[in-house]
Amino acid sequence: MKIIMLGAPGAGKGTQAKQIAAKYEIPHISTGDIFRANLKNGTELGKKAKVYMDQGLLVPDELTCDLVMDRIAQEDCARGFVLDGFPRTILQAEALTKALNNIGQAMDYAIDVDVPDENIVNRMSGRRACLNCGSTYHIVYNPTKTEGVCDVCGSQTVLREDDKPETVQKRLAVYHEQTQPLIDYYKKQNILKTVDGTKSMDEVFSDIVAILGE
Ligand code: ADP
Ligand code: AMP
Repeated sequence: MKIIMLGAPGAGKGTQAKQIAAKYEIPHISTGDIFRANLKNGTELGKKAKVYMDQGLLVPDELTCDLVMDRIAQEDCARGFVLDGFPRTILQAEALTKALNNIGQAMDYAIDVDVPDENIVNRMSGRRACLNCGSTYHIVYNPTKTEGVCDVCGSQTVLREDDKPETVQKRLAVYHEQTQPLIDYYKKQNILKTVDGTKSMDEVFSDIVAILGE
């Protein structure tokens, strides 16, 4: 099963993608996590990506596409995968369609987690991330057991630099301009499914399972 998670930053793509990956036993591929891991490890890619990420801008397509194409060609993706944060531009979507076409495959579902802008700022300002293992929390909706400490690995959780309100506004504008057109792109491919992302995390997941099947 090959799935794309669509939605604004903070809509809950990562939260749902992790659960989908666990239930259907497929890898969760988050380009944001890949960039952050590169940043943490001080790679050239990480340094280049940081310049864009800090400003709430998209990392250029040429740095993003090859990375994803290499990842989905790995053996653990043979049974499918869930993409979270990719594609984010029409050019990325076309590159993905083409790469899969070349091996006689296609994406199965594009799930749009729909959350209005008004809810996004609240989601993002409350999000806490563990930069060590990539776990994500929310101070109200999904808090850590001990404040500021990751439940999974015990590292400190932080407000991501790009989750500060000034940058969130920029990221939302970039989303509407460059990523939202993908909704139509996948509608035309007949694989778009929309879920109401304002519901609780468990309800959203049930709605997704109803689409994907038990
Ligand atoms: P994205 O991957 O789309 O950027 P996340 O999955 O990281 O978004 O979710 C953004 C924030 O909102 C996180 O703090 C997460 O815990 C919280 N969150 C996710 N889904 C819901 C939901 N259905 N209701 C309330 N908060 C949510
Ligand atoms: P995310 O963790 O998905 O919110 O991504 C964090 C940041 O990483 C984004 O604001 C972008 O700067 C960058 N990024 C992640 N995925 C992509 C992508 N597919 N294309 C371009 N930039 C991306």
